Amino acid sequence: MSAFVCRSCGGSEQHSILSLGSTPLANSLVRDPAVEAAAEPRYPLELVFCPVCLLVQITETVPPEVLFRDYLYFSSFSDTMLAHARELTARMKAALKLGERSLAVEIASNDGYLLQYYKQAGVPVMGIEPARNIAKVAEERGIPTVPEFFGLQLATELAADRKRADVLHANNVLAHVADLNGFVAGIHAILADEGVAALEFPYLGDMIDHCEFDTIYHEHLCYYSLGAIKHLFERHHLKLIAVERLPIHGGSLLLQVARDGSARAADPSVQALLDEENRRGMGSVDFYRGFARRVLALKDSLRALLTRLKGEGKRLAAYGAAAKGSTLLNTFGIGRETLDFVADRSTYKQGRYMPGVHIPIVPPEQILATMPDYTLLLTWNFADEILRQQQAYRDRGGKFIVPVPEVTVR
Ligand code: ZN
Repeated sequence: MSAFVCRSCGGSEQHSILSLGSTPLANSLVRDPAVEAAAEPRYPLELVFCPVCLLVQITETVPPEVLFRDYLYFSSFSDTMLAHARELTARMKAALKLGERSLAVEIASNDGYLLQYYKQAGVPVMGIEPARNIAKVAEERGIPTVPEFFGLQLATELAADRKRADVLHANNVLAHVADLNGFVAGIHAILADEGVAALEFPYLGDMIDHCEFDTIYHEHLCYYSLGAIKHLFERHHLKLIAVERLPIHGGSLLLQVARDGSARAADPSVQALLDEENRRGMGSVDFYRGFARRVLALKDSLRALLTRLKGEGKRLAAYGAAAKGSTLLNTFGIGRETLDFVADRSTYKQGRYMPGVHIPIVPPEQILATMPDYTLLLTWNFADEILRQQQAYRDRGGKFIVPVPEVTVR
């Protein structure tokens, strides 16, 4: 193995789980393949397991200035996401008895989509959002926002300035953090003595169960089991007090943590999930190697289906120019020889090309206009919603191929 050192415990002995080869950055859409193809950077995508602290992670850390070159600000959060934020904030406010003397903080607070609900309920808020243009939008919406990266230094400064969090949110941040120890030490520093941090992140158990290998890309550095989280947080004097499984993003955990010295006790959900992970063998690399075998079987089965359909003269396209689609197409070697286009609703993406494979991205109307026989659904996490939107295509005989967790035609 290389000299890679675990982002959590510093251990240098990493076990290989899965190699997805070298892939381009999954969110870096190509404007002009004729110009950019030669310069398109590729980075290794290797998934490893740390036998000391149980963390599953990729070995490559792409510098943020390269990774987020094309950082997109989506002002319109989905209705589902907003409804979830509203429900979660109401629940935390009631459970923690938050009021006008409390402080609600969110890390990577974006435009204040979540904190707005605390504010409406009379709880003072503070966002932390490093993208300055987005922090500015939040400020304009009345959400005080610190335009900095979160870590131990910032957390210590804020705590010294009496800005300690009674409730702290961080949704879909933990997977992206390169300096894990600084980040978690920062959570300890900014939490009030009896404060609670509520963290949401994709759950490794679901990724394995549902063969969601395409959620592996360079922006996602770490893939968490509760066992790995326990190692990490306990080292920083934080205790796990509750955990719930959510269906969001193919399966996520909503974890609550508090300072060791807090009076809050762990509810039975934490030990129950730790026991389940132990029963399943998630503390051993053998468990993850089974996943690698299933990914290769999925590749064989999807490629065989597409090759057969092409051989029969069928026309094929795809739907969803998301990062996971880039992982699937690049690691399975599916390109323009197979797919005519990728349809996507985002006008920002239309007119550009998928990274690496350079399939053109077009508006969804192209599906009905050109009637491909089969459409490969790359954004399978929105399958029900997209199949509903594409009912007219399906009524006229068009079919969707859903690749994950196993190849099905719908
Ligand atoms: Zn480790």
